[in-house]
Amino acid sequence: MFQQLAAIVLVVTALVAHAQPPTPAPAAPGTLPPTLSEVANDVRFAIVKTSQLQTRERMLFSGGRFSEKVDIVFSAVLVQHGQTSLLFDTGLGSQVAEQYAADMPWWNRPFFRYDNPVTPVRRQLEQAGIPPVQRIVVSHAHWDHLSGLADFPEAEVWLSSEEHHFLGEAGSSAGSPWPSQVAHGVRWKDIEFQHGPHEGFERSQDLFGDGRVVLVPLYGHTPGSVGLFVTVTSGTRYFFVGDVVWNVRALQEGRPKNWAARRIVDHDVALTQAAIEKIRAVMQRDPKLVVVPAHDGPVQSGLGYFPHWVR
Ligand SMILES: [Zn+2]
Ligand SMILES: [Zn+2]
Repeated sequence: MFQQLAAIVLVVTALVAHAQPPTPAPAAPGTLPPTLSEVANDVRFAIVKTSQLQTRERMLFSGGRFSEKVDIVFSAVLVQHGQTSLLFDTGLGSQVAEQYAADMPWWNRPFFRYDNPVTPVRRQLEQAGIPPVQRIVVSHAHWDHLSGLADFPEAEVWLSSEEHHFLGEAGSSAGSPWPSQVAHGVRWKDIEFQHGPHEGFERSQDLFGDGRVVLVPLYGHTPGSVGLFVTVTSGTRYFFVGDVVWNVRALQEGRPKNWAARRIVDHDVALTQAAIEKIRAVMQRDPKLVVVPAHDGPVQSGLGYFPHWVR
């Protein structure tokens, strides 16, 4: 039954995914502003959970156990480098119900959903007395990562130039950027990966020039997906890998997403697998590295959620 349904999902998605390609908004020229050059002793982050869902491990990766229930979370990561804060992804925002109604096709809904209540990042930060963030970096342009953008209309939003181009493929599908999420006029800014090799990745973008907060390309899941290394005050290093995998067990075993999911949401299956292998190589070189997939509930709850800080 699941396979029949998944096949229908696959066919219909393929038919409609690229039906309405609007033109992406123009990016500001250049890359990151020099104002981020900052010396900081204290670097920390907090995972801001906006929603969650329970599913079967089998739905997350090939070979996962059908009997095993796993928590999926929809989170943003608030990174604080000295006096400067930035958000990595935005989780589900205050308008997610309207966005979902507008752009998630019914045949994708059995597989791509979320549970209420949704607690948007902006609301959580306001309740904690934290001023609105001015800078957002997005791991990639899928609906569950951009939903909260509309809650931060004043922010600059950084993404790789490849992902910026991908916005031109916006459409109503689980695997496409959603028009409803970027219609408010986002202040996009492109990341060009100007800096040298980092952790086995050929290029990088060292956001503060001190090696503490570094972006690397993780292309495949989408054309311009990026990962984020953060070295916190204690010296522990974290690697936020977006949706290359949905679960760290998939990474440990080198397994792709389940076959239906990867056909719907992995833009380039072979490149996604190459990204998995790159991450595995980093893990082998540094067994203390903590890898954090964007939706891995067990890993993220182990680190603790905002207002808890990891430092
Ligand atoms: Zn996602
Ligand atoms: Zn994704």
